[in-house]
Amino acid sequence: MELLNIPYKVSHRAVKYPRLEFKTGELLIVLPFGAKPEILLDKYKNWIIKQFNFIKGCLESTENRKLIMRSEEMFRKLIHSLTRETAKELRVELNHIYFRMMRTKWASISPAKNLTINSLAKYLPEYLIRYVIFHELAHIIEKRHNEKFWGIISRKFKNHQKLEREMFIYWFLVSNHCKKGMK
Ligand SMILES: [Zn+2]
Repeated sequence: MELLNIPYKVSHRAVKYPRLEFKTGELLIVLPFGAKPEILLDKYKNWIIKQFNFIKGCLESTENRKLIMRSEEMFRKLIHSLTRETAKELRVELNHIYFRMMRTKWASISPAKNLTINSLAKYLPEYLIRYVIFHELAHIIEKRHNEKFWGIISRKFKNHQKLEREMFIYWFLVSNHCKKGMK
């Protein structure tokens, strides 16, 4: 399907609100059951164009960036030391660190204070790994992405918007790298 030369796919799911997903750089429009894409596409046209241009910019930016190659052992050591450092800084306690291949995010934190790191984060430059860990541990203090949360983040990372964008760029870079590897 195409809208204003933007290729996209539609998926109807049990969701309350429509949303956009860009897991591998392709636009997926998730709609509540019964919702017609045409009406929503028209209503969210400007938003979609804005998102698409953002993604396009990210994809273009992947050209001048490189994945970091480090061993599994180096990666785990780095995660453990950065997590220790960050937990101290934020004065939070953490239970466990798990490593798992994840298809939709770099990391997550559970209510039981377990940090799960996407194994693919091993390709990220250290400053982004640092940011990912800080972001997740800040969720121990504030679960939602609200003003309080971004307040905590911006105390240390004034450029967090730029870093969030970098995370997208690397997401595409890593996805492409993995796709090539599977061929
Ligand atoms: Zn978050």
